[in-house]
Amino acid sequence: MAKFSLIPEDVPPVRTRYRTIRTRLPVPESLSIFAALDDSESPSMMGQPPIVWHRAEGFQVWDRWGNKWIDWTSGVIVANAGHGRKEIRAALREIVDRSLLLSYCFVHEQRAELTKLLQSLTPDPEYYRVFLLSTGSEGCENAIKLARTWGLAQHGPRKRMIISFDNAFHGRTLGAQLAGGMQAQKKWIVGEGSTFAQVPCPDGYYCEDTSFDLFLRSLAEKRIEPEDIAGVITESFQGAGVNFLPVEYARRLEAFCREHDIITIFDEVQAGFGRSGKMFAYEHYGVKPDIIVCGKGITSSLPLAAVIGRKDLMAQYPPGSMTSTHSASPLPVAAALASIKLIQAENLVENSRVLGEIVAAELQRIRAKHPNAIGCVHAKGLVGGVLYAKPGTRLPDPETAQKVTDACYKKGLLLTAPVGTWGEVHKVAPPLMIHEKALRESLRVYDEACDQVLN
Ligand code: PMP
Repeated sequence: MAKFSLIPEDVPPVRTRYRTIRTRLPVPESLSIFAALDDSESPSMMGQPPIVWHRAEGFQVWDRWGNKWIDWTSGVIVANAGHGRKEIRAALREIVDRSLLLSYCFVHEQRAELTKLLQSLTPDPEYYRVFLLSTGSEGCENAIKLARTWGLAQHGPRKRMIISFDNAFHGRTLGAQLAGGMQAQKKWIVGEGSTFAQVPCPDGYYCEDTSFDLFLRSLAEKRIEPEDIAGVITESFQGAGVNFLPVEYARRLEAFCREHDIITIFDEVQAGFGRSGKMFAYEHYGVKPDIIVCGKGITSSLPLAAVIGRKDLMAQYPPGSMTSTHSASPLPVAAALASIKLIQAENLVENSRVLGEIVAAELQRIRAKHPNAIGCVHAKGLVGGVLYAKPGTRLPDPETAQKVTDACYKKGLLLTAPVGTWGEVHKVAPPLMIHEKALRESLRVYDEACDQVLN
């Protein structure tokens, strides 16, 4: 992976209402912090544009040296309601001041409020039950466990495979990574995985065949029969390139799973809580998942995950047998309640849908200016993916993506380091409370950065 330079450079100053760049970048005074981390931390944590976050509020991030960025990261798609919202801080303060920093599996009042609220967001509240955890990876692990437990109990040990998609991401723990489809990340897993298989992701770009027949053909080629399959797990949109399933594909997948008693798991860790212009992205398909996995944007802040599953699936584990030390911890629960209420009260799902149309149109316009560098653009709601390709090919171009990210960083627009299977994708994901003026300014900055690097 390419690295961002830690040698301070003079950069043209920026001063608008929403962005300020007033120092050299990276900030010379910040370098000792990077050096301390270099001396003491696993290097795996580095790789983002070299900013030391000091404060984040709304759709902006500040360092302590007077620079401020418009944030297109939402802290990797967490701050859906916005960073540091005062309502979320007040909810946390109330719990802190009451002194209830933990309760293990003992009940606290807000736990019931949150499970009820999450249930009410589903298409059929009576049909679902909720189980709270801390991270998206844990949520996916749990969903896999529930599907396999069901297959085993209802049909015997043959029905245990988990099918997922090439280039999928479900987390970094063993089960989540077995279900993941990025082969480079799975090299450490040797001698396991015969019960996990991936099929092509119908993204319409790297894989041009978007028909559900490809799913069936791929299973047949791998000699996998429906009787072998306990569950299918898919991100509701695949984060790698921001790839949504074709609606027809998703519906046929659901029908296939129903027919063969295969559990459908929609991983909404990234897609949920308004990101795609719907509360959950599976709503775009008109399907009713057996299990919905939530994380990230559920709190806009603290770590919390939720597995929302069919009542009979959730009933498989009796009291005390499916828990975690930090399940439903009071602070993340309070943050989730406050964040979801903000998303509802401020119509942020609708804001995401409406502003998403501007993002999609602008990114397509920018792509049309640089057909030799930008291979394709996918966007819906306030999530977009811009894929960089080597001129005249569909081969990924991570170097160019990295240069554009760096140019944005120096202009006061914050992107994460490029994502995607090969690091060739820019993710556009501002907090959902951004308004049109700031959004348009950020898109202009992106346009300028593209012109600067690509022309
Ligand atoms: N599923 C998806 C779709 C994700 O995007 C992520 C995180 N990027 C995860 C699961 C894992 O979540 P966590 O990092 O909280 O374990």
